[in-house]
Order: sequence, then C-alpha cells, then structure tokens
Amino acid sequence: KVGLIDFEEISMIGKGNFGLVKLVRRKASQKLYAMKVLSKEQVIKRKDVEHTRTERNVLRRIRHPFVVQLRYAFQTGNKLYMVMDYVQGGDLYFHLRQEKKFKEPVVRLWIAELVLAYGYLHQLNVVFRDLKPENLLLDAEGHLHLADFGLSKQVSSHEQSLHTFCGTPYYLAPEIVQVSKTRGYGKAVDWWAIGVLMYELLTG
Ligand code: ADP
Ligand code: MG
Repeated sequence: KVGLIDFEEISMIGKGNFGLVKLVRRKASQKLYAMKVLSKEQVIKRKDVEHTRTERNVLRRIRHPFVVQLRYAFQTGNKLYMVMDYVQGGDLYFHLRQEKKFKEPVVRLWIAELVLAYGYLHQLNVVFRDLKPENLLLDAEGHLHLADFGLSKQVSSHEQSLHTFCGTPYYLAPEIVQVSKTRGYGKAVDWWAIGVLMYELLTG
C-alpha cells in the first residue's frame, strides 16, 4: 500500500482555490509526481466533502491522453492526498499572461484535444464544470492535459439533472446562471465554457 512515507517533497507547484499542489518524488522509483493536498478540516468547513469524494472517484476511473492521470490516493488523520502524473509545462493561465494571446493553429490544437477529452468524459457521464486556463496543463511537447476534477459531477444519462450553482463566473453557461428558474442543466455547460475559453485564448 502506497502512503505519504513513500514520497519526498521537492517544491510547491500550485495553489488553487481548494488545495495545495506539491512536486514530489517517489522514493522507490525516483519518478516525479504532482501531489494535491487537502485539509479535511477545510473540506468539511467548505461543505466540499461530496465534491472531494467525486474528484477522487471520477479521477480514479479516467484514463485518457489529454486528462491528468491519478496514480495514488490516500489519507492521514487530517489530510487527503491525490498523487497524479506531473505535467511539467505549467498551466495555461501562466502562459496566457506571458504571451497575452495565442495564434489560431495553437488554439485549434488545444481545443481539439479538449474536445477529445470532453467526448471521453461525457461518454462516462462526467460533467467537468470548471474549465478555465488554470486547470489546463501543458506537457513538455505542448499538449494539453485537463486537471482539477473538484467540481466535476457524475450524472445519470438524463440530460438536465444538475442544479448546483458553481463554476467560475466568466465561463458559466446561461442555464447555470438561471438555474433557479429552470429545470436544471447538463453536459452542454462544458461546451459553452469551451467557447469562452477559445475566445479568451485567441483575443487575450
Ligand atoms: P484547485 O482545486 O485548488 O484549483 P488544482 O487541481 O487546479 O487545485 O491545482 C492547482 C494548480 O496546481 C493548477 O492550477 C496547476 O498549476 C498545478 N497543478 C495541478 N495538478 C498538476 C499536475 N498534475 N502537474 C503539474 N501541475 C499541476
Ligand atoms: Mg484548479
């Protein structure tokens, strides 16, 4: 059984809304991984227990070239750990700030990769719900990897089954904004967010 003791910490690589992400090395293999650390107390305080469970349960089932791969998940008395493949090229938020905007051929490739990842997730009835540059990582060859399943949700195949108002304001589909007035929303919200992202990447 793999646990905290099997890894040594190298540095901090990210801090999102919910967790800390550290670069770690597995002692036995010397392989690098990204380790997301969540405090149980924080997760409970934010009423995020269900989301966090989903993040782990969704991630463990997923295997796709353009989605970050979870390798191990374990816990200690007060923390939760998710160990993923380390994607070394940085996130798109960082790159967008540096480059201001990207050329069409580059954006076309990334969006195509994202469309493949979404096709796969939606086939598994997983709605991602948190598309934004911070959650898109680039590998050494410039290919994209979707990360952060903290807001993802497993749905029944029924189309309009989600009712939670969540996500990041700029990327919210109208049916999420108006969720109190409608019968709910479904996978289509992910496609709306792709449109917003594509516009942002092309225009800055
Ligand atoms: P949060 O739920 O807190 O937003 P994320 O899973 O999005 O946490 O991780 C926060 C940041 O850590 C990301 O924006 C990214 O910069 C970095 N990161 C996350 N996973 C990886 C990974 N597998 N490889 C490299 N960097 C990562
Ligand atoms: Mg994130």
